Order: sequence, then structure tokens, then C-alpha cells
Amino acid sequence: MANVELKNVTKKFDKNVTAVDNATFKINDKEFVVLVGPSGCGKSTTLRMIAGLDTVTDGEIFIDDKLVNDIPPKDRDIAMVFQNYALYPHMTVYQNLAFGLKLRKHPKKEIDARVREAADILEIEKLLDRKPKALSGGQRQRVAVGRAIVRKPKVFLFDEPLSNLDAKLRVQMRTEISKLRHRLETTMIYVTHDQMEAMTMGDRIVIMKDGIVHQIDTPLTLYNQPKNQFVAGFIGSPAMNFMKGKLEKGAGLWFDEGEFRLKLAENYNTMLHNYPEKEIVMGIRPEDIYDKTVSANTSHSDQIPFRVDVVELMGNEIFVYLKTDQHSLIARMKTDNPPQVNEQIDVVFNMQKLYFFDSETGERIVHSVGQG
Ligand code: ATP
Repeated sequence: MANVELKNVTKKFDKNVTAVDNATFKINDKEFVVLVGPSGCGKSTTLRMIAGLDTVTDGEIFIDDKLVNDIPPKDRDIAMVFQNYALYPHMTVYQNLAFGLKLRKHPKKEIDARVREAADILEIEKLLDRKPKALSGGQRQRVAVGRAIVRKPKVFLFDEPLSNLDAKLRVQMRTEISKLRHRLETTMIYVTHDQMEAMTMGDRIVIMKDGIVHQIDTPLTLYNQPKNQFVAGFIGSPAMNFMKGKLEKGAGLWFDEGEFRLKLAENYNTMLHNYPEKEIVMGIRPEDIYDKTVSANTSHSDQIPFRVDVVELMGNEIFVYLKTDQHSLIARMKTDNPPQVNEQIDVVFNMQKLYFFDSETGERIVHSVGQG
């Protein structure tokens, strides 16, 4: 059991590549924290520094309140599960599981007990005599996790452990890892580029881009109160829609997008008072856009005409790609009466669910009623 803390941690590979830039955050004992972000954002490097596989250029890393910058990986009491599983091909599953303990010269009896316990937890008892090449991807994944479990480490580190699995197996292993963390009650740090994995597994999520930590919060807070346009666009699928426009004061406050104007509810007046006549970015999630004919809510905007470009049937809902001359939007609608491709439909926006971002900094403009 341990907490993990990063204080102003920077990693430079050479003068030009800053992989991690001044990262500061604390992961509590028994917490499951996911590091997420697009390719190259520095999430693996962050994990590797915690593991001790990459050195820290600047800053400090603590495990269990102990500075570990100069402590080699084997003495950090952590176990890491890699994307490629890193199993020894010439060893059986049993030997793979036992190997780390053997190196550390644990007694044979204890090794056997720990291997069998891990095999039981992961339901791989029947595979103990097989070699990795005779295992499916999901089974190999389990063995890789098992190898970490037998060590009984203070902290588990996972580096994209599910990315080699097919979609169905990924979802299955996702729930298994979630169950595992409740059973093991150990601090876990999990790296993925998949926002869905992050949202479903993490107690908290650290979201990174270009080496910089943009926000650290619970999945729901990230979704409902993103700090900036990047976080708003990265979390949620399909992604939030963004439109540039200008604020105008007339009878009330208006967002003039060019092709259409939206009258904003009173509560946005105070929030946006620093942005008179300025360019601003508006965001709206796909589920907050409705077909006018099936919506009769007073908090909705006036209708806006769009052409239906693509319709994706998902079963319980549909994703409708909408177009005007200059814009594309995605709406997530009910399946009752799906629109046809090329049909003109009138849509309305839920005016209580708008987000606004500073068009220069990308920061979300906050303090609106209901948006925190
Ligand atoms: P991915 O999801 O693609 O693995 P990531 O978010 O894990 O990406 P990192 O692997 O941490 O990103 O890489 C962060 C940055 O550091 C990238 O620009 C990468 O090219 C660079 N980088 C990583 N490892 C090295 C290295 N050994 N030498 C030089 N540059 C590196």
C-alpha cells in the first residue's frame, strides 16, 4: 500500500524534446488513477519515471513519502504490466509467474503458494503448464497481470495493457482489471490513450497533452466541468462540438455564429461579461442537440436548419452528422424516427448545456449556473 507523488517532474530526452513538463500530482493509497492523452503526450514516460525505467530530468518522485529518484526499479516495490506482455517464450506460465520471485530468492513453498493464488484470482490454473505461444491474447494478458500480482507490490503500473486485444476482449479485461483492483486494494496507475477506458476505470484521471498535465479530476468532473477546450474535446464520444462566434448585446446576450444566432439565457450574462463583442468558442455535446420535431423544451434554442450528411445506427441510439455550408456537427439522437441522409432537419440546442471557451487560451469560461 502506498501513495505516489510527483513534484514538478520534468523529463527531457534532449534539448528539443520535453516529454513531460513540470508535472505535479499525488495519487492516494489504493487509488486507481488513469493517465490518458493522445499519442506522444508523455503518459508512458511519466509511468516509466515512476517505475524507475526512465530517469527524472528535474523534480521529485515519492513512493510512500520516500524520495525514489535515485532508487533502482527493482527496489521501488512496484510491478509493471506492459503492452506487449513481455512474457518469456521458453518458460511455462507457471515459470513465468514464478520467475520474479525466484530471482528475489523467495522460498520455493512461498513461490508456489503465491503463483497458485494469482492463478486462482485470474482463473488461469489450467494454463500453468502451457507456454505463452499456446495462449490466446487475453490469456497472455492474464499471465502478464499475474506476474505483477505474485510480487504483491506496493504499486501496480499498467502501460496500455489492453491495446493488443480485440474490442470485445478489451471490454472484458477492462471489467476484470476493475474487479481485480477491488480485490487487491493496491494503488494502481494505468496508462491508456483510450478515453473510454479512462472514464470507466479511473477513480481519477490525469489528462495530458504535449507533456503538460491539463486536468486531474474524477471522470464525471472531467466530463461536466472540463478546464479547457482540449479536455472538453478529448473526453466524451462522440466528441463535443465546437463553434466560433461573437458575443453581441442587443435585447439580451446573443452568440452570433455567422450562419445562425443564439439568444443566451440570462445566467450566461455574468459569466461572459468580460467578452463583449469578442470572438469566443461555444461547445455543445452531441446529446444536447435535438431534432426540433421531437423536442418541446422551453430551455431550447430557436430551430437551426441542417442537412443530414451521415447517419450511424448504433442500435439504441443514432449518431447524426449534420452539415451547413460552413459547419459540421454531430448529434446523438433517439432511434425512434431516424432522419434520412440529405434530409433537411431543424435542430435545437439545449441552451442550459452550453460551454464557452476563450478563443485565444482555450480555457473554459466558468461560473455559469449548473456548470460549476
Ligand atoms: P504513446 O501513446 O504513443 O505511447 P505517450 O503519451 O506514452 O505516447 P511518450 O512515449 O511518453 O508518449 O513520449 C512522449 C514524447 O517523448 C514523445 O514526443 C516521444 O517521441 C518522446 N520520447 C519518448 N521516448 C523517447 C526516447 N527514448 N528518446 C527520445 N524521445 C522520446
